Amino acid sequence: MRQLKAGGCQVIPDATTEDFPLDALVINTCGFIHDAKEESINYILESLQAKEEGRLGEVLVMGCLSERYKKELEKEMPGVDAFFGVTDIPLIAAHLGVPYDPALATERVLSTPAHYAYLKLSEGCDRSCAYCAIPLIRGPHRSRPMKELLAEAGHLALQGVRELNLVAQDTSFYGLDLTGKRELATLMEGLCLIDGIDRIRLLYTYPQGFPLDVLRLMAREPKICQYVDIPLQHISDKVLKAMRRNTTKAETLRLIEDFRTFVPGLCLRTTLMVGHPGEDEQAFQELLDFVKEARFERMGAFTYSREEGTYGAKHLKDHVPAGIKRERYERLMELQKGNSLAYNRSRVGSVCSVLSDYLVIPEGRTRKPTVLGRTQYEAPEVDGYVILENAGGIVPGSIVKARITKADEYDLHAQLIDQ
Ligand code: SF4
Repeated sequence: MRQLKAGGCQVIPDATTEDFPLDALVINTCGFIHDAKEESINYILESLQAKEEGRLGEVLVMGCLSERYKKELEKEMPGVDAFFGVTDIPLIAAHLGVPYDPALATERVLSTPAHYAYLKLSEGCDRSCAYCAIPLIRGPHRSRPMKELLAEAGHLALQGVRELNLVAQDTSFYGLDLTGKRELATLMEGLCLIDGIDRIRLLYTYPQGFPLDVLRLMAREPKICQYVDIPLQHISDKVLKAMRRNTTKAETLRLIEDFRTFVPGLCLRTTLMVGHPGEDEQAFQELLDFVKEARFERMGAFTYSREEGTYGAKHLKDHVPAGIKRERYERLMELQKGNSLAYNRSRVGSVCSVLSDYLVIPEGRTRKPTVLGRTQYEAPEVDGYVILENAGGIVPGSIVKARITKADEYDLHAQLIDQ
């Protein structure tokens, strides 16, 4: 988007049909799991319909789905003007008549609100999880040079970004391919030195070989959110082995203990998968017991889907019927609701810094605007909000002090404290 803008194009990061007519629409697709693929395809079909009705110029498709299934998609969707892979940014720019300028590679046009951004540390993945097609699509792990990441974060801070959310297929692997060591803590220390950045949040880590120096840094550095997102997927040794996760139940429990010891107030988020081949009722019960015991502050879940070309699709049997997968998913999420509510209730009465994300203006003149914000314990998009009622005058991007007054299952309510 930055390249197109520099080339004189007007860019809308997230177009909806209300923004049509547009000269061109670039659709960034996902090819991770069945539901994501379906969503991508449906959006392409809707866009082709708009093109046919003359409300849209060119339809261009990029990203994982397009990288993986280019030939098939070209055949099935002749109305698409061009398909691009995941690293074809210069080709997309050229297609739209804009010369690609490498000097702009660390500059961004954000698709998030102006005060937070995702910072992508690396591309690809060296793991071999049985269910996952990402290494097939994105290739082996390649860390971005630290200098480049610090430069990008510096540009983002100048644009008004206050919160950086660190992402990659596996953030805990950062640096191994560059220097032979995990460099995540060093990178995070460097990011803390950037003026204007107030929060750094760690997402998408991996349990095996988790760099514990990150936890030490988190415990002492106020800019680093006391928050770790670590998709654990399962706890049963039998299922972890079938998933080829390269870790065990005992190692996972030890790691969780380390998290709680190093950073006592930590907000731990995980993602789990139900219905993986080999997950019988006993293994699922083990997962339920684990979730009850570990009391994750945040948790999400997926049902397994058989992805073409993966180890799981080629070699694993014992596939769990769809109805049972769904039922297990619901039982797991129901259990987590209680954990989430207990965690939120434990925060009632505490004072926290809230970063305002959105201002919601109610209809009618009698009620004042509501602010939807987040503390260091809420990641954007996946976690709930801290809701500040009667909070007019607080612009998105500002950080205010508030006291938590009420807990819902996922959201919290708070009152501003006079500054
Ligand atoms: S760590 Fe496993 S699940 Fe995550 S991207 Fe790599 S292969 Fe996929």
